[in-house]
Amino acid sequence: MSGPGTTGSDRGGTATLGIDPALLEILACPDTHHSPLTVDVAASELVCGTCHRAFPVRDGIPVLLLDEARQRPA
Ligand SMILES: [Zn+2]
Repeated sequence: MSGPGTTGSDRGGTATLGIDPALLEILACPDTHHSPLTVDVAASELVCGTCHRAFPVRDGIPVLLLDEARQRPA
């Protein structure tokens, strides 16, 4: 009885980079499309799936500024 679908029980904050999950849900890319952001734990960034910008997370605070974002290859 094992398989996928057992995610979401991590309470250490690693999967969210220390960001409040409730906050994560409402975060969106600051560009005009306002797409939802995906957490990249390895890079400590929030990534937009539409424009492929990556926003840094500093001390659990997402920096959603276009000036601070870096463009990632698609
Ligand atoms: Zn975007």
